Amino acid sequence: MRYSDVVIIGGGPAGMSAALSAREAGADKVTLIERDDSLGGILQQCIHNGFGLHRFGEELTGPEYAERYEKMVREADIEVMTGTIVTDLDSRRIVTCVSEDRGCIQIKAGAVVLAMGCRERPRGALNIPGTRPAGVITAGTAQKFVNVEGYMPGREVVILGSGDIGLIMARRMTLEGAHVKAVCEIMEDSGGLTRNIVQCLKDFGIPLKLRHTVTEIHGRDRVEGVTVAQVDENLKPVKGTEEFIPCDTLMLSVGLIPENELSKKAGVEISPTTKGPVIDANRQTKIPGIFACGNVVKVHELVDFVSEEGHTAGRSAACFAMGMNLAVQEKQAKKHVKEKKGVQNLPAETGATICTICPVGCTLKVTGEADGQLKVEGNSCRRGRAYAIKEFTSPERTLTSIMAAGDGTMVPVKTDKPIPKEKISECMKIINEKTLMLPISLGNIIIEKIGGTEANLICTRSFINK
Ligand SMILES: Cc1cc2nc3c(=O)[nH]c(=O)nc-3n(C[C@H](O)[C@H](O)[C@H](O)COP(=O)(O)OP(=O)(O)OC[C@H]3O[C@@H](n4cnc5c(N)ncnc54)[C@H](O)[C@@H]3O)c2cc1C
Ligand code: SF4
Repeated sequence: MRYSDVVIIGGGPAGMSAALSAREAGADKVTLIERDDSLGGILQQCIHNGFGLHRFGEELTGPEYAERYEKMVREADIEVMTGTIVTDLDSRRIVTCVSEDRGCIQIKAGAVVLAMGCRERPRGALNIPGTRPAGVITAGTAQKFVNVEGYMPGREVVILGSGDIGLIMARRMTLEGAHVKAVCEIMEDSGGLTRNIVQCLKDFGIPLKLRHTVTEIHGRDRVEGVTVAQVDENLKPVKGTEEFIPCDTLMLSVGLIPENELSKKAGVEISPTTKGPVIDANRQTKIPGIFACGNVVKVHELVDFVSEEGHTAGRSAACFAMGMNLAVQEKQAKKHVKEKKGVQNLPAETGATICTICPVGCTLKVTGEADGQLKVEGNSCRRGRAYAIKEFTSPERTLTSIMAAGDGTMVPVKTDKPIPKEKISECMKIINEKTLMLPISLGNIIIEKIGGTEANLICTRSFINK
């Protein structure tokens, strides 16, 4: 049996951050185990931007954020075991894992950090009546198909659930030419971030049907449509409100659950509320020497907070492994400002918008003055005024997508600055028509001044061993 001071299970942002801080805190041997062939976790398929504002002070795409962390991990003398799945963990901190090249090995760990992330709730959990036709897919799987494998799972889409994955996939499918007919949300407000409701639905005129659910799936071999209905205060469908929506795809975005089979095997206490391990301020579970961080503890909206939690868990695990007292981490001095959620009725008329610059999400009212100037109300700071004026005179968005390489690899790309909103479909056409050559590195320019804009199209993930 091998020994490692700190073993981290899961190479997503939580695990990478934990591995780095365990090394920084003085742990000699740190082993990071990831079942996928590459590090990055869920970030690899999240090609949109919106990551890293707190951690790096700039808006990055998921692959860019992951690559920054991976670089630090590779430079920090951390043992990285990719393509390796942990199959067992016990309370004595014996980690059993299997990989194609090493076979089955056991590692005795001084401390263990659980960072296995979460998984999607499947359709079975929902009990929607109907047969089991092709075309019912979870949003995360669809995201992997579209963003990593370059495969479109459908053309006429209804999305059930308005959490962030559902919203982001509504935009992504639209950009790739699908018709997203509706996003249905059973609750009275959306569970997604304000900026996602604005930039993923409102920008593309996709209807958000609040207090609605899918009551039936039609079709034998392939989905032919769904029935949606309003729900009452007990979330039961209201008779007489049914509406048939023809579609070939029903995308389910109905929540995520922490991935806790290993935690349970180790005997870690699981919270009935979060469905993740119960942890203390040091991110230690009820079993001494077993720590947990990131989405395996509870589903986090922002990756920056996942990295921060990983940092605490890694440092605590290193202290434990070295026999040092665990200093109870001071409560966060600065409280995380949560992004405002649950925007029910987005202002549809031209006089109002929601500021998406910072998590506060102020509703801004814009009116024309007699002197031709625009008057902005509702902003809590000056940046909001500038945002509102820009939004009403020349709105811009950063475009993120994928581009095919000659060997079929899908390379995530983005514009290096926002482009005018009306240029988005023209630029998508250019991206879809062009093929690029590998190898390519993060930040390489692929198309200069794409579509006659001021922005260059750049690569957001390196493919250097191709
Ligand atoms: C669609 C979507 C959009 C998002 N958008 C944003 C956004 O715009 N901005 C933002 O800040 N955040 C966003 N987030 C949130 C953020 O990305 C996540 O909270 C964060 O990535 C979670 O990190 P993690 O390391 O806990 O989990 P993950 O990234 O899921 O990593 C867990 C890793 O553990 C591995 N693993 C699991 N079990 C085992 C095992 N038995 N053995 C070995 N390895 C294992 C998995 O393969 C995976 O790589 C989004 C999340 C999603 C899903
Ligand atoms: S107006 Fe200022 S405080 Fe309000 S959301 Fe915009 S940037 Fe944030």
